[in-house]
Amino acid sequence: MTAMDPMDSVPLRLQDFKEYAERVFANIPSGLVILSARLRILTVNRAFLQMFGVTQGDVEGRFSHEVISADGLADQLATVLGGSVPRADGILLMRVCGGEERLMRYAVTGMYLAEEEEEEARLLVALEDITEQERAFQALARSEARLAEAQRIARLGHWEWNVATGELWWSDEVYNIFEREKGRFVPGYESFLACLHPDDRARIESAVRKSIDDGSDYRLDHRIVLPSGGVRYVHEQASCVLGADGIVERMVGTVQDITERKETEARLAHLAHHDPLTCLPNRMLLRDRISQAITYGRRHDRLVAVLFIDLDRFKRINDSLGHDVGDRLLQAIAERLRKSVRDGDTVARLGGDEFAIALTDVADADDVAKLARKLLNAINQSILLNGREYYATASIGISLFPHDGGDVETLLKNADTAMYEAKEAGRNAYRFFREEMDFNIRAHLELEQSLRGALERGEFEVHYQPQIRLQDGVVTGVEALLRWNRPDGKFVGPDIFIPVLEETGLIVEVGAWVMHRACVDVVHWNRLLGRELLVAVNLSRRQFDDKHLAETVAEVLRESGLPPALLELEVTESIVMSDAARAGHVMETLRGTGVHLAMDDFGTGYSSLVYLKRFPLDRLKIDKEFVRDIGVDANDDAIVRTIIALAENLGLEAVAEGVETEVQRDFLQRHGCQLAQGYLYSRPLPVADLEHYFVKCRSSRRSSGSE
Ligand code: C2E
Ligand code: CA
Ligand code: CA
Repeated sequence: MTAMDPMDSVPLRLQDFKEYAERVFANIPSGLVILSARLRILTVNRAFLQMFGVTQGDVEGRFSHEVISADGLADQLATVLGGSVPRADGILLMRVCGGEERLMRYAVTGMYLAEEEEEEARLLVALEDITEQERAFQALARSEARLAEAQRIARLGHWEWNVATGELWWSDEVYNIFEREKGRFVPGYESFLACLHPDDRARIESAVRKSIDDGSDYRLDHRIVLPSGGVRYVHEQASCVLGADGIVERMVGTVQDITERKETEARLAHLAHHDPLTCLPNRMLLRDRISQAITYGRRHDRLVAVLFIDLDRFKRINDSLGHDVGDRLLQAIAERLRKSVRDGDTVARLGGDEFAIALTDVADADDVAKLARKLLNAINQSILLNGREYYATASIGISLFPHDGGDVETLLKNADTAMYEAKEAGRNAYRFFREEMDFNIRAHLELEQSLRGALERGEFEVHYQPQIRLQDGVVTGVEALLRWNRPDGKFVGPDIFIPVLEETGLIVEVGAWVMHRACVDVVHWNRLLGRELLVAVNLSRRQFDDKHLAETVAEVLRESGLPPALLELEVTESIVMSDAARAGHVMETLRGTGVHLAMDDFGTGYSSLVYLKRFPLDRLKIDKEFVRDIGVDANDDAIVRTIIALAENLGLEAVAEGVETEVQRDFLQRHGCQLAQGYLYSRPLPVADLEHYFVKCRSSRRSSGSE
């Protein structure tokens, strides 16, 4: 202890004390006010002036409430003045200069200064502005609440584990994530381990052990088992807190519920490998499975079979019955395929109406053929949708490892090729891949090559088939049919090359050329014969979808000088019905050019009668398939009669195609069919032969006196 300076012990003189008190009063950071018993302001200090934004002149002599506006302050002043309590304090909102409200801590003290003449009471009011302090406090409280809320939303909890004592502390969110009740469940290392998924336990134990050993952090995903038996995925991160001796004292960490993320990941992975409509594996997963099967087959000397399955004429079902029915049909078929194979085999959907199956561990090709037959049979069973029965067939192509390819791509490609062969063979069939098939594909490519430039090289020609009015046998028109004269002299029919022109888009140009040629030829004959023959020209799908079609038609009519009513455009039922609403629009536009419209191959598609009535049609052409069996198949008789009646009802003319016999002709005539075309009258003829035909008709009619 240091010795006390003698000056320290000299008592303070009153004069000095007063001086100190004045200085303290003036300089203390709290606002001070001295009020009279009538609550007039006697004096205030500098801090008060600053707090309230006023000057000494503003406040002196004023009543306290005129300067300090605060609800409840007057009561407090009165209580202290009344003498019941020596002092009152609290927190009040006070309005300062400019109207701003500040939060103030106040203390009111009564003073009785004996020196005064009359012993009048005075009040000392001390004020402290705690607005900022309070704001900071509120903000802190809010951010703490927010943190807790954020953790709750993020499903993120934290924990602390005292390695030495074994004490484990969990935040509320950890309890929530683990679905354990706080208070009832006692967290500890053992009880924590008991919450883990048995398959993950060992992994976590070793991670914890390693951390304790070398002080390293760990982060890992694992599963926990809830009391309900449910499973949750969590992401855990932990780090070590070392003691002074460098030994791990505590571990702290976070645990986050990532179940939703894991589920989404799993869903995405499933989506990436499966077809959403049928839930079957997709092409990607199929490739994987084939490749695994190849590896297995190589090792165990077994075969692998790849079956490529394509539904027959599915597009027609989809187009005419709607995608909804189409989708459900695909689902039904997917289910049948799945049920027809063994567990280790993979049924995949490649898209559209294409499926594929990978058969693993196959002993011999006979087994595959057996399965293919089983599949065709399964597909061919009736499918009941909306109370209606539907039938589907498929074509299957098969390739075998190792004979037909040693890798996934080759096997798929060759199975696809074999599938085309099955289609060619008349559908509802299966074919094994053969070397020659590859040749056919090459032939197709070669066909495509030869067709390019064929128009420019003048290899196309239009033949005409007369259309005869049944009532009197008079030729009323011709149908233009395209022919291709290949330089090598090989014959390729339009059924083969027109689809290729379609595929390549060449048909738009070639089709316009046919139309032009046909119109020019007919104008010539009409002038020559003094007739008004009509010419029918076929439109392909590409042409029908071409937005310049109406312009092309108008241009052809203008250039050839053919009256629009003498040109008839034929569209097939399947083209029109695939998008009936749009087709109606296109047909109206075509009608606007003045041409006539015929529905070709009627009866083969699935026409909606509602649309049929709305379309601006002139004729229905009865497909030759039905005409062929007139008099042979009672069913076809009925169909033909119905189509004729339907046409009549709709105010359309019926045209029978492919009339080859007199029996057919008589039947058609008897049932009121207006027109016919077919070999009975004439094959499609080149221009020169058709001119002869006209001459012959004329003379025969002359000789029979009919003209
Ligand atoms: P399509 O429009 O149904 O034409 C009628 C087909 O029936 C023609 O075949 C014709 O030769 C054939 N045919 C005519 N009378 C008989 C008969 O009594 N019996 C049998 N069995 N067949 C008969 P073609 O000329 O081989 O044409 C086949 C198809 O190619 C046509 O069927 C048509 O869809 C298409 N086509 C032909 N020319 C063109 C064309 O210029 N443009 C477009 N887009 N398609 C065309
Ligand atoms: Ca036709
Ligand atoms: Ca036809």
